[in-house]
Amino acid sequence: MLLEMKHIYKDYNPDKIVVPVLKDINISIDEGEYVAIMGPSGSGKTTLMNIIGCLDRPTKGEYFLEEESIVNYSENELADLRLKTLGFVFQSFNLLPKQTALENVSLPLSYAGIPVKNRKKIAFQALARVGLQDRVHFRPSELSGGQQQRVAIARALVNNPKIILADEPTGALDSHSGIQVMELFQQLNDDGVTVIMITHDANIAGYAKRVLHIFDGRITDDNSQKGDR
Ligand code: ADP
Ligand code: MG
Repeated sequence: MLLEMKHIYKDYNPDKIVVPVLKDINISIDEGEYVAIMGPSGSGKTTLMNIIGCLDRPTKGEYFLEEESIVNYSENELADLRLKTLGFVFQSFNLLPKQTALENVSLPLSYAGIPVKNRKKIAFQALARVGLQDRVHFRPSELSGGQQQRVAIARALVNNPKIILADEPTGALDSHSGIQVMELFQQLNDDGVTVIMITHDANIAGYAKRVLHIFDGRITDDNSQKGDR
């Protein structure tokens, strides 16, 4: 099992009032799966993604990544795990506006301590993998939304993560660019990358092999055909 959550709860405490957001989440995901987590706005999708991505901690519960319990990891250990195991794609791309595509994609390589002389080549390869080899010196403002998201995907891929986590990755795109991004995730999954995608859109969720439905902080349905996986 690549990822396992047992009885995960998350409360927020604004002004000392406890707001329960995730309630007894249990999820198991194998290596190579393509999973969509689908639910309406406010159901807890981003909260769940932040916990899956080790950007936030659960209030309660157990979380295993590659069979390792990580709930007691230090901030440094979590940062290391994010860098090596996880790649993130966000709705709003989150690219640095003054940096070129190549520089944006190189950034995680510098955090990972890859020598400067190797970074360019690796970043170029990641951009080629998303079809942007002829746009490497463009800045985000010189790229379309779909191209910016592909740069973000290249950045997510550049350290060879086991898991790509995407939160509403097509939410800011026109439908044509959205389909291109979905085809890219499909291709990555065919190459063996585990994809976990969050969406409120049933059409987008339809690209995944398995759909988990979240409603009011609980997983209400899991369409995985167990014999099929
Ligand atoms: P979704 O991504 O499905 O739209 P979120 O996970 O962003 O849902 O939010 C789920 C609920 O948690 C919402 O009611 C939201 O107001 C609340 N929430 C999210 N983040 C915080 C926070 N940092 N502090 C307090 N409440 C939060
Ligand atoms: Mg959200």
